[in-house]
Amino acid sequence: MHTQFATEKHVKYLKRHLGLLPSSQQSHDVNKMAIIFYSLVSLSAIGIDVAKEYGSSAQWICRHRIALESSGSKVALSGFVGSLTLDIPNTNTVSLPNTLFALLVLRLLKCDEFFCSVRNRETICAFVSTCQVAEDGSFTSVLANKHFLPSPLDASDLRFCFIAVEILCLLGCRKLQDYSKYINVDKLIAYILSQQCDSGGFGSYGEPHAGYTSCALSTLSLLESLACLTDEFKELTLLWLVHRQVSDEGCMQLQCKNPFFDEEDHGGFQGRENKFADTCYAFWCLNSMNILQFNTSATLGTFESAKMYLLSRTQNTIIGGFSKNDVDDPDLYHTCLGVAALKLIEGTFNGVLFLPSAIDVSS
Ligand SMILES: [Zn+2]
Repeated sequence: MHTQFATEKHVKYLKRHLGLLPSSQQSHDVNKMAIIFYSLVSLSAIGIDVAKEYGSSAQWICRHRIALESSGSKVALSGFVGSLTLDIPNTNTVSLPNTLFALLVLRLLKCDEFFCSVRNRETICAFVSTCQVAEDGSFTSVLANKHFLPSPLDASDLRFCFIAVEILCLLGCRKLQDYSKYINVDKLIAYILSQQCDSGGFGSYGEPHAGYTSCALSTLSLLESLACLTDEFKELTLLWLVHRQVSDEGCMQLQCKNPFFDEEDHGGFQGRENKFADTCYAFWCLNSMNILQFNTSATLGTFESAKMYLLSRTQNTIIGGFSKNDVDDPDLYHTCLGVAALKLIEGTFNGVLFLPSAIDVSS
């Protein structure tokens, strides 16, 4: 059983994604910005000086910012595309997720010049503002063609609320009044509160989901509005999160039985009830617990057994990387989330921003 973090193997695995993308990933060109972000943030979290090694690529990343022009609109908007092959005339391919990935990459590469430009900041904030759905305060990830309105074809959910707010944070918003310059914060908070589930946690249609829960809590944390949640709901949410940890001994913290487990999953987290453990949910659950200040010495067991699960079950010590579970091959997304979870446990990762704690976002 491996219980050591295979640093060198992981660094090689991640750098391979930044060189020639494996041919199996060529169809993922649209996800290129995501691939670059997952690789760089993981390398940075491991301790590689990515600004030094990859800083010369910052200008190429900046070229993925596209201005959106509309004859009727007086406000200039801009955002990022995931790939330059997607810069198609008269089609809005700029999206909130690609904009966040690109901004995080530029922060990792210490491209302060980009963040100093008032024009960059204002046009991107205007794009975020336009993605907010007037009716309920949520966000869509793209705009409909021509009219520059939130796309009616796109889902609007807690993921895009989080992405919108983090983009504004990376562009300098800190206090509620900063965010209020661009978005309707009251409506956004009301939307987030509407996604609370009776059993604790957040999700659509009343079913809590660990990913949505992390997005909701991270958004409220950035908005300094966690106090909007009642103590009762916070406790219910902690209880729900604790029960997502799969245990072969029953639930460790609460001395009650967890009937849904595969013995091999011990210590891992599931994202929803009655599911198997999955590497990425270790991050979403631990980050949520961290925000709710559950990470105290009294609950060290939760974090320690999650760490052992990741290192001994889903870490690949031969080719590097982490997989979703103890059966699949490693993939970049689960590698990134596995590394992030381990660094969160070590206390060197800012789970709300999804950046290593050492990365400065103050400029
Ligand atoms: Zn997963």
